[in-house]
Formats: sequence, C-alpha cells, structure tokens
Amino acid sequence: MIPALSLLAYALTLALAGPRLLRAASWTDRAPRLAIAAWQALTVTVLASVTLAGAALTFPTVGVSRDLAGLLRACIMAIKEQYASPGGAAAGTTGAGLALVILGRTLWCLGSILGDMARERARHGRILDIVGRDDAHSGVIVLDSDESTVYCLPGRRRRTVITTAALQALDDAQLDAVLAHEQAHLSERHDLILGFSRALAAAFPGIALFRLASTETARLIELRADDAAAARSGRLTVAGALLAVASPGKTPLPAVALAAGGVGAAARVRRLIPPHNPLGRARTAAGSLAVAALFTLPVLLLGGPAAAAAGQNLCPDTIVSAGSLAP
Ligand SMILES: [Zn+2]
Repeated sequence: MIPALSLLAYALTLALAGPRLLRAASWTDRAPRLAIAAWQALTVTVLASVTLAGAALTFPTVGVSRDLAGLLRACIMAIKEQYASPGGAAAGTTGAGLALVILGRTLWCLGSILGDMARERARHGRILDIVGRDDAHSGVIVLDSDESTVYCLPGRRRRTVITTAALQALDDAQLDAVLAHEQAHLSERHDLILGFSRALAAAFPGIALFRLASTETARLIELRADDAAAARSGRLTVAGALLAVASPGKTPLPAVALAAGGVGAAARVRRLIPPHNPLGRARTAAGSLAVAALFTLPVLLLGGPAAAAAGQNLCPDTIVSAGSLAP
C-alpha cells in the first residue's frame, strides 16, 4: 500500500506543481529542446506513476530474487494472501481498474490521433500531387497562391510546401531560413511529439497539466525550429523571413501541417531580435539530469520496497528459496 500511495502523491505533486514551475521558468525559451523534453517527461511520469500505483495495488510487493521459480511461488502466495481479505481484494480490484483505464484511454486516444494524422497527411498529399509542382532547385513543392505560406507535411514522404507568393516575398537567405525551419520540424519528428501531447490532452481533458503541455509543446517546437534555422541563417534573417510568411491566409492549412509562420509568430520575431542568449552547458546538463530524475523516482518508489524485501524471509519454510514478501 505504501508504494502505491507514494506514487499517487508523487503524481499529484507533479501534476499540480510541475506546470506552474515550468511556465514560470525563464529558461524555457532559451532552451526549447530541453523544455520540450521537460513537458514530455512531466506528462509521461504522471501517467506512469498513476499506472504503477494501480499495479502496486493489484500485485503485492515481492522481494526480488534470482530464483525465478521461488519468486513465482512467492508472488502466488502474496496474491492469495492479499485477495483473501475483502479489503485487500477491493484495493487490488481498484488498482487494476485504475491501471487499465489509464493505459486503455491513453492508447486509444494516441492510436486515434495518430491514425487521423496519417489519413489527413495522405489526403493532403494526394491534393499536392495534383496541384503542386516539384521545384528541382530547392527540392520543395510549389503551390500557385497569392497567400504567402510555407509549411511541411511530415511522415514517410516528408514534403515541404511553399507558395508562389512566399517565393516572391522571401530573398534567398530568408528562403534558406524557412526551409531550415521546416527541415528541423521534419528531422526531429515534431509531428509525433505534438501528436503525443495532443493525445494526452484529448484522453484526459479535465487535467490541466495535459492541456498546458499540449499548448506549450506546440509553442516550443516552433522556437526550436527557429533556433535551428537561426544556427544556419542568422537570427535576424529568420525574423525577417517570419515577418514575410506570418500573415494568416484565408485558406486554412491542414492540421497536420507545421507552418513556418504558425504558432505565436509575433512573439517569436521579438525573441529573435535581441542577441542570442542560450542556456549554458552547466544549466543544460542540470536540467537534463532533473528530467531524467523525473522518470527515475517512480521506479525507485516501486522497486525500492521490493529490493528492501529481498533479504527478508517472510514465506513459510517450504518456500525458503523463494523471494520474500514485503509487509
Ligand atoms: Zn514551424
């Protein structure tokens, strides 16, 4: 019971405090890739902690052992003992239900959103096959349009699309910059990161953490793509390119498209104008360690009691060789 309660308390603390800390942090815009990882780690850890808490209620803690047959006997004994009492059976059933609902809901929404994305990509890809033309020089697809737009279509075919109006609005350096921006989206699979965060927000709409994570992830992947473009073309060139393609067009883009002038374009331009001030190596390394620690703690909370019980013998003499049971 203690591991389950510890995991639930950990998940609740992260769900309540994590978004506030991350949104108040001043470093996220200076290290968007680390910030994306932090939001992903936060959501995954909360989900994993609640699911593991359910599993801990369902299956009693058994001491770890190299004797697999003995470990199996100890597991069976522990389960029989727990489910012999009404309280133990109720806790176990509740835990199993909790874990199954969370896992099932997550997988269902994830599959549904990824499936929708794949279908929309395929549908839009067929339209591009008909109305677009390949530009041999830049390797992108050109659409005749008076709206200045650049976007990419992730997936197996990985296509970047640019309108004739955008080609006229951008000089060569700016064109390189927006193409580098789209290339960052494609090569770093920002579509999958975004799809995952959207799936969690859809699966658990009542939990603010997942809604905020989805919104912030959409914003941060644009900052990350801007930084990748700035590393190649310079920050002011990227800012100028964004201004040229940021005006909202009358034709809505498909939801799976990642546009250069998309989320928060005005704020992104303002961010690019001052000199770059990236997070230092030491602070980036500390942040990476903190992200890794988020994942590690649930494992320790669940595995610690089992490891601690490994040296004890709480089983009857007939299964002395088995791992021992935690109280
Ligand atoms: Zn973008």
